[in-house]
Amino acid sequence: MSRGKADVVVIGGGLAGSEAAWQAARLGVTVDLYEMRPTRMTEAHQTGFLGELVCSNSFKSDSIGNANGLLKLELKMSGSLLMEIARNTRVPAGNALCVNRTSFASEVTRVIEENPAITLIREEKTALADGAVNVLAPGPLASPAMAGVLEGLVGSPNLFFYDAVSPIIDADSIDTSNAYMSSRYGKGEATYLNIPLGRDRYMEFVEGLRAAEKVTVHGFEKRMFFSACMPIEEQAEMGDDTLAHGCMKPVGLADPRTGKLPYAVVQLRPENLDGTMYGMVGFQTRLKHGEQKLLLRKLPGLENARFLRLGSIHRNTYIRSPGILSNSLEHRDRPGVFTAGQITGAEGYGAAVGTGFIAGVNAAFKVLGKQPVVPPRTTLIGGLLRYASHAPASDFQPMNPNFGLMPQLAARVRTKQERHLLRAERSVVAMKAWLEEVGLGTGTKVAVT
Ligand SMILES: Cc1cc2nc3c(=O)[nH]c(=O)nc-3n(C[C@H](O)[C@H](O)[C@H](O)COP(=O)(O)OP(=O)(O)OC[C@H]3O[C@@H](n4cnc5c(N)ncnc54)[C@H](O)[C@@H]3O)c2cc1C
Repeated sequence: MSRGKADVVVIGGGLAGSEAAWQAARLGVTVDLYEMRPTRMTEAHQTGFLGELVCSNSFKSDSIGNANGLLKLELKMSGSLLMEIARNTRVPAGNALCVNRTSFASEVTRVIEENPAITLIREEKTALADGAVNVLAPGPLASPAMAGVLEGLVGSPNLFFYDAVSPIIDADSIDTSNAYMSSRYGKGEATYLNIPLGRDRYMEFVEGLRAAEKVTVHGFEKRMFFSACMPIEEQAEMGDDTLAHGCMKPVGLADPRTGKLPYAVVQLRPENLDGTMYGMVGFQTRLKHGEQKLLLRKLPGLENARFLRLGSIHRNTYIRSPGILSNSLEHRDRPGVFTAGQITGAEGYGAAVGTGFIAGVNAAFKVLGKQPVVPPRTTLIGGLLRYASHAPASDFQPMNPNFGLMPQLAARVRTKQERHLLRAERSVVAMKAWLEEVGLGTGTKVAVT
């Protein structure tokens, strides 16, 4: 296959791009896969291998009672190349799927290089390919030129270069007896859940922030703070009342039970249309994860909070996907251009592979003149795609796989474990039916040696 004539051009040979290229090729189309490493490296990658794991060697839990485990099962059923290679290169790690990172990435590279339908081009791609279906998968550390391409595609207000993540809490685990629903100044629908704090509780929290242990900042991340995304612990250092005048400002949020303004409020905003998870507004933080949980659970109503994700701040190029991408990951305004991986806001290794799978299949279907296909919402992949395409766009933040992405069960189930297992069972049934319906087959064995 000579370069420049492929049906599909994939940009970025990381987790998402490698999966996308292989899935597209599996469906009978030709692919040019551009990877800029090793000629041009990112701040975090260390090798020229495709599918390099930039940090941990863990694909997280392998149990289907855990969202990461369920995602991996769905991908296995779908015939994911990278999941197959992960299993072939796994190292003992109890319940988690951990891999030998060198064996994993070298095997991904070998299988892609040996695929006759894929041409691997070791170059930085600086523009979209004309006359081909494009899959953009340049990852959270996309080269500046590719970030420019994305900016042209989605508009600068819809492209982010760092990720200032606030914690997200499972709605079921919040004790709302002390909280009240309202929007500031009563504007719009009262969808925010407000936790009022008196001066003593507020100061306890501020002191806790000052004393807590923080994550060490990487060299390349030092330059990115500005006031709009300053971590709460840094704001706490600036003065006793900085937070009470910032994200914990009570103005316009009088407690309807007393008619009075509290000293400060913790505002919780629904993260999805189903209201199964709430984000802590403005609570981006670099506190170590254990410290975060301890401190935030001291807030009234959050004593038993289950954190679906914890706060963090790091370099992360991503787009405001809702409104821009359809749930097949195709750009609504640019048919024939797909985006996959962390850059869509689907966070973590498993989610990168999952979005790569969907983009690769749909890119091939586009070439073949077929309609796009998307797994049902009751699957975890379907839930991630729905979040990327339909979450509230105004404060869109990347999301890792979690059960809150899936619709609630019809019947009320008491324990969390039971709920998760029932959702997982529902997902497996739905995934199997979907794969049969769209002709992708179940449990495809990938030809990997
Ligand atoms: C520092 C860091 C640590 C992380 N640690 C974890 C972790 O431990 N666990 C976890 O689950 N998730 C982690 N993530 C989040 C995420 O899961 C990974 O970044 C994951 O690799 C994302 O997959 P991807 O395919 O979107 O991007 P990547 O795997 O980064 O792949 C993108 C590829 O595109 C290439 N590229 C970029 N621009 C161009 C261009 N113009 N032309 C050609 N090639 C280009 C890059 O070289 C890279 O190979 C981390 C992210 C970062 C930034």
